[in-house]
Amino acid sequence: MNSQSSALQLSNLEQRQLVTPVVVQAVILCVMMIAFALGLPAPIESRLTNAGIALAGIVYTLFHYYILLPNFSTNRIVWWLVALINSAAIGLLLWLDPIQPWAFAFFLALLTTSGSVILTGRWPTYVFAVIISIAQWVLARPLFPWIDYVPLQYLVFPLAAAVITETAMLTRRSIARQVNRLELLSRVTGSLVSSLEIQEVIELVCNAIQQAMKADTYYVGLFRPPDSLYMALLYDEGEFFPKTTVSISNTLAGHVVRTAKPLHLNDVPREHQKLNLPLFIVGKPRTSLSWMGAPLISGGTVLGIIAVASYERNAFTKEDMDLLINLSNQAAMAIDNANHHEEVERRSRLDSLTGCLNHGVFIKALDEKIQECLKKNQPISVIMLDIDLFKKYNDMHGHLVGDQVLVMITETIRRHIKSTDLVGRWGGEEFVIALPNATGEEAVRVARRLQKSVGQIYLTDRSGTVISAPTISQGIAMCPLEASDAYSLIDLADQRLYRAKARGRNQVEPQENYWEEQLVSLPEQAHIRQP
Ligand code: GH3
Ligand code: MG
Ligand code: MG
Repeated sequence: MNSQSSALQLSNLEQRQLVTPVVVQAVILCVMMIAFALGLPAPIESRLTNAGIALAGIVYTLFHYYILLPNFSTNRIVWWLVALINSAAIGLLLWLDPIQPWAFAFFLALLTTSGSVILTGRWPTYVFAVIISIAQWVLARPLFPWIDYVPLQYLVFPLAAAVITETAMLTRRSIARQVNRLELLSRVTGSLVSSLEIQEVIELVCNAIQQAMKADTYYVGLFRPPDSLYMALLYDEGEFFPKTTVSISNTLAGHVVRTAKPLHLNDVPREHQKLNLPLFIVGKPRTSLSWMGAPLISGGTVLGIIAVASYERNAFTKEDMDLLINLSNQAAMAIDNANHHEEVERRSRLDSLTGCLNHGVFIKALDEKIQECLKKNQPISVIMLDIDLFKKYNDMHGHLVGDQVLVMITETIRRHIKSTDLVGRWGGEEFVIALPNATGEEAVRVARRLQKSVGQIYLTDRSGTVISAPTISQGIAMCPLEASDAYSLIDLADQRLYRAKARGRNQVEPQENYWEEQLVSLPEQAHIRQP
């Protein structure tokens, strides 16, 4: 937990509520002291002294409660002043040494200690306790004289004051830790809800773990069935490791993914044997001694795991585990959102019938490929493909068969090109194909193979009768020889497509050897040529 956020900030109202029992007890004690003084079989002066001291105690306590506390400052100098004034008050009581019933001064000193630790914290309270401990010794008036052994008479108060102070501070610290965890979780949740990128989600989780836990190692793994984990983030002893995919069969992570339940081991070497799992080391070649893993579950499906480890035993508490579980629940939801968003984006880039790139996305992708090829000094060719007399084909066999033809032609195109090539649906029955690092001649060879394969597509009509596929016409243009931007290149291929149609359809335009001949007759500086 970082130190800045570990102090528990209480409002004045909360402080008043916390010290109320202390104040009530102090007042009761003083009232009892007055009653005792009035009934005391002693001279009137000594009875009045006793009653006066008790009355002063009540005034002092109520002044604290009603005047000082509502305006209690967060200024530490005020805290020290209050500690000194308290010391003076109890010191005076010791010095006056009234006849005391029920260990009056002792209880009053303890109540002052309790109030002080609530309002001012540890060190001003210790200053008060030390001053009073010394005062009782200097004045030879032990606060707890009801023990035979004299040194103990002086030690009871400092010991009791230390116990009260430390108990209050431990409680304060544990509440502060809990509050910090909740604050952190609510901050992270707020950011996670608006994250649409998986990497952003993972970075937020990473920051939260770093702030909240004493982890030497942590990772966010995304499950890749049947038994692998894609390490989207892996941190070990101050170092981030590259993203990798690891097998998790028979590992602690695998156990968490398989059971979809969190796992917390405080002594890994001993406890992992009970689970009958061999040790699995990621990051540096060192075995962790504490380990916690929480599954990332969304909609009943395990998406992955967040795991945290330490090279010390018992490094994590139950609260750490609860925080990790909460964090992974939020992260799982955010990862699911990001996955959906990515899928919607991916689909919006594609043509819904054929799965090719849509018009706008193709142009952009072609532009990038052209820039890439120009940089590498490579050619890039474009084929514009149109189905011949497709209107008639639709009229004859129906639009459903027509749709099937579009899908099968797309599949045929994909089979004949590389994964780095691009296919876009340009219009209704027009496709455009980009072949990076392919010359015009190579593009013509691809076009010829397409022409042949499309002709061999197996199709049946509504009645199940085998029908022939339509033919296709293709126009080809080449960059940088003929055009060096996406629009000009496509336009040139389109013009050539119309020439192929004009030449009687089922053609590739231009023919093989076109570029060879053109190159021979090409003047040095001429780049853009007409079809
Ligand atoms: P051409 O050889 O000159 O290209 O003749 P064509 O009939 O193919 O050309 P035209 O532009 O006249 O007609 C294109 C046809 O493509 C019209 C339409 O029926 C068909 N078409 C366009 N998009 C789709 C589609 O998504 N599904 C189906 N089944 N047909 C489509
Ligand atoms: Mg057509
Ligand atoms: Mg057309």
